[in-house]
Amino acid sequence: MRLDPRAPLVLDTRELGRRPGSQRLTSFTAPAPADLGIEVLRVPEGSPVAFELRLEAVMEGVLLTGEAQAELVGECVRCLEEVRDEVVADFQELFVYDDEDRDAEDEETSRLEGDLIDLEPLLRDTVVLTLPFQPLCRDDCPGLCTECGARLADDPGHQHDEPIDPRWSKLQGIGLEHDETND
Ligand SMILES: [Zn+2]
Ligand SMILES: [Zn+2]
Repeated sequence: MRLDPRAPLVLDTRELGRRPGSQRLTSFTAPAPADLGIEVLRVPEGSPVAFELRLEAVMEGVLLTGEAQAELVGECVRCLEEVRDEVVADFQELFVYDDEDRDAEDEETSRLEGDLIDLEPLLRDTVVLTLPFQPLCRDDCPGLCTECGARLADDPGHQHDEPIDPRWSKLQGIGLEHDETND
């Protein structure tokens, strides 16, 4: 796969050069790719992802450090209310020059493609690792009423005066049928 140097998540390191110690700071905003995050909490596609990066040439490649900041939308796992949050993904990744010897075993290694760095896989991995796996609308979200499904945070005093005992509900059912037949 050839990278497109104009793609929003592709960095061109040509200006940095390859002399070890050479550094460059860059900050830019790119639209979020699709499916960035996890199912219950994600960065909306196309919303801005703000990068602040430092590139440093080292012997074997380019060391990239910095962060990306983006908005998150998801739903509370307890009450299903919309959750809005923000994610800050911290990067520290070495991109090895692609003319370095390739080891069959180092497929995990991030590589430059010519002078280009593809930020997308790094962004995806880092965002997913940074997200809470159980998004909550608030830390102490009481969730939903197990009897009627009401959202308890909206109604803290919520309770059912007459808890429905399974034995009573059976009798109620009979009573209802009885009423209907006599109507
Ligand atoms: Zn909640
Ligand atoms: Zn209830």
